[in-house]
Amino acid sequence: MTKLYHIQISHYFKSPPEMELFSILERLLPIKFIFGEQGLIEAEGAIFIEGRDKYSANIYSLSLPPPTNSEHKSRQIETLVEFADDPEVPFPFRGRKLSTKLVKAGAVLSLQNNEKVLATCEQGPIWTVYEIDDVKHYKSALPLPPISVERNFNDVFNGECFLEILVFLQFIRAISTDTVYENAPLRASFIIDDPNLHWSRYGFVDYRAIVAQAQKENYHVSFATIPLDTWFTHAPTADIFRKNSQQLSLLIHGNNHAKEELALNYSDQMRKALLIQAIKRIERLEKKANLRVCRVMVPPHGACSNKMLAELPKFGFESACISTGSLRAHNQNEPWTKTLGFFPSEIIESCPVLPRWGLTGNVENTLLVAAYLGQPLILRGHHQDLKNGGEVFNEYAKFINGLGNVIWSNMTDLSRLNYLWRMEGTKCRVKPLGRSISLVRPSEATEVIIESPNGIDDCEWQVATVDGFVRKIMPNEHLVLSGEMGSKIFIERHAVPQSPSVTAENKPTGATLILRRLLTEVRDRLLVS
Ligand SMILES: [Zn+2]
Repeated sequence: MTKLYHIQISHYFKSPPEMELFSILERLLPIKFIFGEQGLIEAEGAIFIEGRDKYSANIYSLSLPPPTNSEHKSRQIETLVEFADDPEVPFPFRGRKLSTKLVKAGAVLSLQNNEKVLATCEQGPIWTVYEIDDVKHYKSALPLPPISVERNFNDVFNGECFLEILVFLQFIRAISTDTVYENAPLRASFIIDDPNLHWSRYGFVDYRAIVAQAQKENYHVSFATIPLDTWFTHAPTADIFRKNSQQLSLLIHGNNHAKEELALNYSDQMRKALLIQAIKRIERLEKKANLRVCRVMVPPHGACSNKMLAELPKFGFESACISTGSLRAHNQNEPWTKTLGFFPSEIIESCPVLPRWGLTGNVENTLLVAAYLGQPLILRGHHQDLKNGGEVFNEYAKFINGLGNVIWSNMTDLSRLNYLWRMEGTKCRVKPLGRSISLVRPSEATEVIIESPNGIDDCEWQVATVDGFVRKIMPNEHLVLSGEMGSKIFIERHAVPQSPSVTAENKPTGATLILRRLLTEVRDRLLVS
């Protein structure tokens, strides 16, 4: 069990917008807020308003301005922020200058003698820390963003605005430093929805040109292809994919590409029949093209119900890839939508869901926030985004590769790199955020312990290494690792439910849907001429 950290908090923050935020944070982190007078004794940290609250200098603290007390979205101002090149500033923000929206950019902090500045805006310092007798005291000039009951974590921590919450999260990390999880390696892919293997080009997509650019700039592009389109495969195009699997790969985009087809209110049998048809069509492509298509589902228009997500793993899908906004829009009444946007992948109905982002808005900040949270860096576009010859991918690939060593790969590999880990002496505790992961073994690890993530029931996990070692272990069981086991450890949830026997065949796709898809393809292809 991870230790629970208590944080004493000023009763000035006890209004609904803050309470909503604290309730979300308590669900995401091993923390419990205690309001004011309830008890100071056991708290490991305190959040207070300078001049209004008393606080103990013996525990870590964070001083904040008074809350804005507005349920309405306060006016945010685009502000240039410079982060210090200091270990207190987390990766990937350390030493970086960027522009972001702040609720209140005017007020700044006045510095004391031994205070270190962690972030400044044009007007002066907005985030600082000082240390007395090994106890850290943080100060922020940024009020907590108000959050009404309809909003979620992603609304206050995203590429457009994040700094107020970053300060808060870093304070919690400082308190809980002994049990903080590390992120999996940086990993990335671009995804383009809709192209197929009917020809070596699709609209503005030219597979050969993409291979050349991706080799030059070091990136990978995954194409979400529509199962309905697999009636024909152009052999030379399949060759391009087969010979360049480092740069190009395929994943699955719905079944017929019908409107909201994975979010409709189906019977159980209909849902299963739809997925069986999609898989059969993809297997037809795999056979003709001699290619493996990643069992990762990108729902058309991001529309996918939680019932459909629950079915995907039973049909061999490793994960789904859906933007946080779409996931929430199509599952509005589900309680899990409140905390979306924090974990490297969300586990919904036992199905891992990887995030992805569009090419609009503050994309660089979106990537930085994702890298901070240990999320895969997945940007998605359509063939029209390549009308200037793929410049947009080259540019973002340079930015992503500038963050450090990045694994660019297909969506199966990316799904298997979703996990959190931490060392406890020489024991490596790992929390898989998928059904199957490929752990990069920390060199000092002599034992591995698996922690079941929320959303996956306690179950046996199978641990295997390249030298042929295989063992099944239960969560919290210690597994001793030998030196010969190599640097990669494959961890898979044991006894993955098998595809249930389904007698119902999906009805043949109607002529209207086939025609609609053909016309869309013709439109996409003609657009370039
Ligand atoms: Zn599409």
